[in-house]
Amino acid sequence: MTHQRRAVLEALASVDTHPTAAEVYEMVRQALPDVSQGTVYRNLRKLIELGYAQELDYGSGASHFDACVEPHYHVRCTDCGRVADLPIHSEPTPCIDEARRAADGWTISEHRVEFMGLCPGCRKSE
Ligand SMILES: [Zn+2]
Ligand SMILES: [Zn+2]
Repeated sequence: MTHQRRAVLEALASVDTHPTAAEVYEMVRQALPDVSQGTVYRNLRKLIELGYAQELDYGSGASHFDACVEPHYHVRCTDCGRVADLPIHSEPTPCIDEARRAADGWTISEHRVEFMGLCPGCRKSE
């Protein structure tokens, strides 16, 4: 792994805040002041390809990145966009297994369960 790619992975793995690519770039710049945004973005893509990181794609907004590639659930704030892990690492529930079987004729490669609402910080300022 190149020096730069390792720096990107280390930055991402050092937080559990699920940063956007722009935020990862800011973090990597602390360690490598001369690194370009393109290099960070390219290495981020490569880390996902290699299975070291995952992308949380929310369609409209910026993707968030996560160095934890174990299956786990996320909760996302609809106000500030913050993404947090839910401290549950359980097997798929019977309900999800049932839904998977109901997808007749499909080959299912993954599933996503996403919780959305207001984070504690945004609830306070309501
Ligand atoms: Zn919030
Ligand atoms: Zn996560």
